[in-house]
Amino acid sequence: MKSYLLKYCCIECGKEFNSKELHYLCDECGRDYVPGIPLKGVLEAVFDYEEIGRRWKQKPDPLLFSAVNPKFYPPLPVGNTPFFRVRIPGLKRGGTASSDYPMGIKFDGLNPSGSYKDRASQLVVADALQKEITEIVTASTGNAACSLACLGASAGLKVVIFAPQNAPPAKLIQIQVHNAELHKVDGSYDDAFKAALEYTKMHNCMCRNTGYHPLTIDGKKSAGIEIYIQNGYKVPDWIVIPVGDGVILTGIYKAFLDLQRAGITKNLPHLLCVQAESSDAITSYWETGNYHDAENPVTIADSIKVKTPALAHWSVKALIETDGKGIRVSDAEIQEAQLELAKYTGVFAEPSSSATLAGLKKAVNKRWLKTDNDIVLLITGHGLKDPGAVKL
Ligand SMILES: *Cc1c(COP(=O)(O)O)cnc(C)c1O
Ligand SMILES: [Zn+2]
Repeated sequence: MKSYLLKYCCIECGKEFNSKELHYLCDECGRDYVPGIPLKGVLEAVFDYEEIGRRWKQKPDPLLFSAVNPKFYPPLPVGNTPFFRVRIPGLKRGGTASSDYPMGIKFDGLNPSGSYKDRASQLVVADALQKEITEIVTASTGNAACSLACLGASAGLKVVIFAPQNAPPAKLIQIQVHNAELHKVDGSYDDAFKAALEYTKMHNCMCRNTGYHPLTIDGKKSAGIEIYIQNGYKVPDWIVIPVGDGVILTGIYKAFLDLQRAGITKNLPHLLCVQAESSDAITSYWETGNYHDAENPVTIADSIKVKTPALAHWSVKALIETDGKGIRVSDAEIQEAQLELAKYTGVFAEPSSSATLAGLKKAVNKRWLKTDNDIVLLITGHGLKDPGAVKL
C-alpha cells in the first residue's frame, strides 16, 4: 500500500517542506531552538485526505494514514494491540451513586519492546530504510531507546543511544541486549538531547529525538486510529493519556484530527492529560496560559519525568481544541492505581501508565466526566519494565 503523505508543514508559520527529503524543525521558526526549551518550528505531516477518505469507504484500514509505505516497516510487527472492556469496582462517575462503569483499555505495553514508543520507532526506522540511511541516533531516558534498539535490530540498522547516567538499570540492559551503541551522558536528558543533535551533524545518520523528527509524532497517532475502529467505529468521549514530552498526547490528537479531515468522523474525543505532580509543565501551562519548566521532576514514573516537554505548545493546543483537561497525580496514587489495574483487569502497567487510572479517579471526583461517557485508558508501558516501582 502506498503512503498518502503529501508534505510537511510548520505548525507555527505554515511553511511547507518536501516530505521525500529529511527534515526536522522549520528552518525559520526552529533557527533559534536550543536544547533546554520546548521545541520550536515542529513539522506536521500533511496527507491527501480526500484520497484517504475515498479508500476508507471501500475498506477501512489504519495503514491508509501511514506516513511511510508499509513495505519499508521493519519485520517485527508493531501496534494492533488489544482493546477490551474492563470494570473497575468503586469508580463512581459524575458523583452519582452508580458505580463500576465499563470502560475500554488499549494495552500498548504489548508492543515488541513493551511500550508505545514502538509506534514512533517503527515509522522512523521505515523512513530510514526508505531513504537508505543505515544509522539512527536518539536521546532517551529509557523506553524510546529500548524501542529504537529493538526495531533497529529487526531492520539491521546501526543504533546509537545517548542516555543520562541515571536511566533505570533494566532499561539500560534492554538497550544493550539489542546491540545498540550506548553513550552514557554525564548530565540530564537535555544534555543527552544536545549530544544526539551534535552526533547527527557529524554523521550521515537519522535523528529520532522525540518531537524533533516529525514522524515520531505521526507514528504515535496509529493507536488513535486503532481505538476508533476497535471501539466499533465510535469516537470515545474521553481518552486518558500519561504525559511527559506530550508526543503521545499530540499523536492521539492528530489521529482524530486526521480522521476528521478525511471526512470519516465528525467530533474529537476529550483528552485527559495525566502528569506526575513534580513533572507537570504541560498541565500548568494549560491552567495558566504561561509556559514554565517543571522545577524539580522527581517521580517513580520515569517515562513521564520531564522538565522541559518537547511538545509543550502543541500539547496545550490539543487540550484546548479537544476541550480536554490536565491533572496531577502523586507517586502514592500511581502505586495504588497500579495494583488496582493489575487486580481488577489483569493488566500490569508500568508506573507512567498506571497514572491514567489514578488521574481518571481524580477527574471523576471533580465531576469532569458524565456518567454515560465512553472512556478509554491508554496503557503505554508494561509493568515488567520496572517491577522495582511496585508497592505491594
Ligand atoms: C514516553 C512514555 C510516555 C509519555 O509519552 P510522551 O510522548 O513523552 O508524553 C508514557 N508512557 C510510557 C510508557 C512512555 O514510554
Ligand atoms: Zn516555521
